[in-house]
Formats: sequence, structure tokens, C-alpha cells
Amino acid sequence: MNAAHAPNAGLASARVRDRMVQRVRELGVQDPRVLAALAAVPRHAFVDDALASRAYEDTALPIGHGQTISQPYIVARTAELALEGIADPTRARLLEIGTGCGYAAAVLAHVFGTVVTIERIRALHERARANLRPLRLSNVRLLYGDGTAGAAAGAPYDVIVAAAAAEYVPPAWGEQLKSGGRIVAPIGGAQQSLTVLIKDEQGGLQRRSAEGVRFVPMRLGQE
Ligand code: SAH
Repeated sequence: MNAAHAPNAGLASARVRDRMVQRVRELGVQDPRVLAALAAVPRHAFVDDALASRAYEDTALPIGHGQTISQPYIVARTAELALEGIADPTRARLLEIGTGCGYAAAVLAHVFGTVVTIERIRALHERARANLRPLRLSNVRLLYGDGTAGAAAGAPYDVIVAAAAAEYVPPAWGEQLKSGGRIVAPIGGAQQSLTVLIKDEQGGLQRRSAEGVRFVPMRLGQE
């Protein structure tokens, strides 16, 4: 049974979600559009029933297959960095690499016009589809595949965000980005930083900022 229908109705309350949003705000996320999106998405519906009581802690939680649902602060910070410099996000196309259980895609879909998200583990791709269905977000498109090749079918994108850390930015991401568009991705191995790269008029990627983070690693191929 999905946690959204579980007897623990307390989790569905706005109050417990608002407390999580408050915590994310205290960590420095300011953008009201992002905070409103966090408040709108029922995170407990994206984790197993056994973990639902912890869904509004600001922490990553296991979702199986060695993967995690991202920490709310990280989802929020990524969205905030993605929004900077975008005049009208409701018209923007965003590609997310690493759907996982679909939580970040749901948050991003409240802020961006179109969200294309790709996952390399089929079981998670299908689970994300099931998790997102009751939310009826008509602007999310779920793809199964290796996101290191981007998702050419939906290109070009205004923003590409990654939920898994790559050692280097895959060339396809730069190619599938609009001029002036941005990548927000954890880059690195043992030491990772949430990095913002902007595509310049010559097609090069200019590193704008970076802050230390810890993500699961990006992997190649499909499962
Ligand atoms: N966005 C998720 C985070 C999931 S964790 C959330 O909202 O919580 C990161 C995900 O990236 C994992 O599901 C992992 O399987 C996926 N991933 C790793 N490498 C990938 C790749 N090359 N292509 C697509 N997905 C990838």
C-alpha cells in the first residue's frame, strides 16, 4: 500500500511539511517559488511505508537498488540555483538526470514549465511513474535510459540538473543545452561540489559557482 493512503494521516498534514520547509529555509534557501513547491509535494508518498514517518526529516532515505531519495535541502538548493537567471521558469524546459523515486521531479514540476527526467534503473523508473501518477503533474515526462547521453528527444533545455555525481560533465549535456542555459550538477568523486555551469555564446561551459555536497555516484549503462 502506498503511504499516501496509509492510516497515518498526520503525515499528510500541512504542519509537518511546513516544519521541513522551515528547516530548509534556515539552511539558506530563500526562493519563495522553491519553498512553495517543497510545501506542495507530499514526500511521504515517495518512500516505503516503513520510512514514511521519517519522510519530513531533512535527510536522504533509501529507496532500494542502492539509491536514495534526495535530502529536501539539496532538492531545494538545486532548484534555487537552477532558477537563477531564468526570466520565466514557467516557460523553461528542464532535464533531470536520475529520477530515482520521482520526488525532485515533482518539486521541479511546480516551478518549471516542462520537466523531462531520465533514470537508468528500470524498477525505479517504473516506481517513479507510479508515485507521480496520483499527483497528476501533466508537465513531467519520464524516460528510461542512461542520462550521461542526456535526452536528445527533448532537447534543447534551458536547465539540466543531475541527482547523481559525475566525475566530469558529459559532453551531451552541453550540446543539449540552449545558449545561456545552465547545468546544476554535483561534480567530482570523493570530493563533490554542486556546480553551476553556464553555456556561453561560443558553446563553452563557464563554471559559475560550487558548494560542497555528497551525492550517490553517476553510473553508466542501464539495469
Ligand atoms: N532525483 C531523485 C534522486 C535519486 S538518487 C530524488 O528525487 O530523490 C540518484 C538517481 O540517479 C538514482 O536513482 C540513480 O539510479 C540515478 N542515476 C545514476 N546514474 C544515472 C545515469 N547515468 N542516468 C540516469 N540515472 C542515473
